[in-house]
Amino acid sequence: MAFTNIKNQDSLTYLIAGGAGFIGSHLCETLLENGHSVIALDNLVTGSQNNIEHLAHDARFTFIEHDIKNPIPTMGKIDCILNMASPASPMDFENLSIEIMLAGSIGTYHLLEFAKEKNAWFMMASTSEVYGDPEVHPQKEDYLGNVNCIGVRSVYDESKRFSESMTNAYLRKNLVQTSIIRIFNTYGPRMRVNDGRVVPNFIDQALHHKPITIHGKGTQTRSFCFVDDLVRGIIRTSVVRPETPINLGNTTEKTILEVAENIIAFTNSKSELTFLDLPEGDPKRRCPVLTRAKEILDWEPEISFADGIKKTIEYFKNAP
Ligand code: NAD
Repeated sequence: MAFTNIKNQDSLTYLIAGGAGFIGSHLCETLLENGHSVIALDNLVTGSQNNIEHLAHDARFTFIEHDIKNPIPTMGKIDCILNMASPASPMDFENLSIEIMLAGSIGTYHLLEFAKEKNAWFMMASTSEVYGDPEVHPQKEDYLGNVNCIGVRSVYDESKRFSESMTNAYLRKNLVQTSIIRIFNTYGPRMRVNDGRVVPNFIDQALHHKPITIHGKGTQTRSFCFVDDLVRGIIRTSVVRPETPINLGNTTEKTILEVAENIIAFTNSKSELTFLDLPEGDPKRRCPVLTRAKEILDWEPEISFADGIKKTIEYFKNAP
């Protein structure tokens, strides 16, 4: 089959599954700004129409409430499909366990079938969680991971691993042109206040001068990427369309303790630190190797943690 390979990025039509979510809504916004048409498909399980209501006036923007566990509704020409649809917060791993597995299995399948029908490029938003609790550090794309397939986090890790396999099966059979990105911790405006992920949690606690809840001793590290950098990486991916998986994230590692201290300082908070048990399977270290992203996409993150976190704090001060 001959794929349409539109690399000059004239005005295209993007279907963004999970378009009303945190990252998805930023993607919708940037793609519209870049002159494209955007259809956001979302069942609103963790996303919100508040995230996209400012786009509703744009004639090139459409929102469809739909769960990707069901076949994708009929629509016109689609050039690119970005699969961002999955609950992603550790808080959801128990409550939304089955929903996560369905989104990352049958949901991905439905989107790939739709991409085949439309002859569209398909991008799977995978995650650093496919590396599990990594035994090598930092993580390159060819590291195969250390995942517990029945632990609490497994619903997320394994559904993303399944999605990657399914995506590659369509690529190998030459049915769909595909790319896979592995996103490392990303933060920014429009994360849910009660999301349970570390940045919104700490900011909310700090703004309300409540104790900052640190799991374990806080010595575990994470690398945090600001959402604008990630969106730029995804846009680059949609232009270059690599077939090999690519890590997208930030390489500046911070301990959870440092994150808490920075957020307390930037919010002038009176919050104190309180230490809780470490949740099951919590990875000790996470940091991407970005060589592929730099070489293949000519992309690397540019926004410092201090700048990104200040913008995020401003959002949370007035969050809906
Ligand atoms: P989010 O929860 O804000 O966004 C996910 C969106 O998908 C939500 O709007 C939700 O309602 C929608 N959704 C979920 N299941 C669906 C279904 N079955 N049908 C239709 N829509 C559905 O989370 P996010 O942080 O914006 O994450 C977006 C994507 O990026 C996810 O796939 C996530 O796994 C991936 N990712 C995010 C991070 C991060 O740090 N934010 C890291 C790695 C991977």
